[in-house]
Amino acid sequence: MPGSFHQVACPDCDNEQIVFGKASSIVTCAVCGHTLATPTGGEAVIEGDVVDTVEAR
Ligand SMILES: [Zn+2]
Repeated sequence: MPGSFHQVACPDCDNEQIVFGKASSIVTCAVCGHTLATPTGGEAVIEGDVVDTVEAR
């Protein structure tokens, strides 16, 4: 599994941005700073609505 990318909609401001599924650092919303992904050592925990997922290959 090479991992995948998720398009995540921020629950606070509806900004959408791309988050790597195995992000190794906290990903925050570029607009309001809401935490969108928290690293776990494996697949990151996504906070917010996943609008779309793109498999990396
Ligand atoms: Zn936001």
